Amino acid sequence: MQPRILIAREKIAARVAEIGAEITRDFAGEAIIFVGVLKGAAIFLSDLARQVRLDATFDFIGVSSYGARPTPAQELHGGWDSTGEVRLTKDVDHSLRDKNVILVEDILDTGLTLTYLKDILLSHQPKAFRIAALLDKPSRRKKPIAGDYVGFSIPDEFVVGYGLDYAERYRNLPDVCVLPRE
Ligand code: 5GP
Repeated sequence: MQPRILIAREKIAARVAEIGAEITRDFAGEAIIFVGVLKGAAIFLSDLARQVRLDATFDFIGVSSYGARPTPAQELHGGWDSTGEVRLTKDVDHSLRDKNVILVEDILDTGLTLTYLKDILLSHQPKAFRIAALLDKPSRRKKPIAGDYVGFSIPDEFVVGYGLDYAERYRNLPDVCVLPRE
């Protein structure tokens, strides 16, 4: 199974710089906190944060899906289909009260994960709350949630690289790649 490049590193870098400039404009003169969703968002967060010219700090949150999560092979063949039963494996380390929070996610798919996380983070009563997602698969959405800063809309393919994994592998590929289903 050879990954095929869907979005090349130069294109990712250019888009991440644009999003960084947009965040810099939107929060001019204010401090922000990036909250990355482990582990997939780690690479996007580290690149994005370096394109933002603001007083910024980081935090991380972890989630996993309950129950009959598909095996990696089923995931690849049938598409990711989380049941919606998401559980927190790591909470944020700091209070987000009155903070400008940017939740950073690798990919917005069914929307179940971000809907769950949004409720948790809003309960901290932040000053502002925004979602930054590198990738978006709008055709897969089950919950009506949208990203405020979205890198690329992609078709319903299983992607790896730039933080995204298949059975924990491929996260270090510099490009976003499609793992062929056959
Ligand atoms: P959602 O809750 O929006 O359905 O799923 C979001 C999570 O599903 C992402 O954070 C990611 O972990 C996983 N996911 C969804 N689509 C893909 C994909 O194409 N490739 C990989 N590697 N993970 C995906």
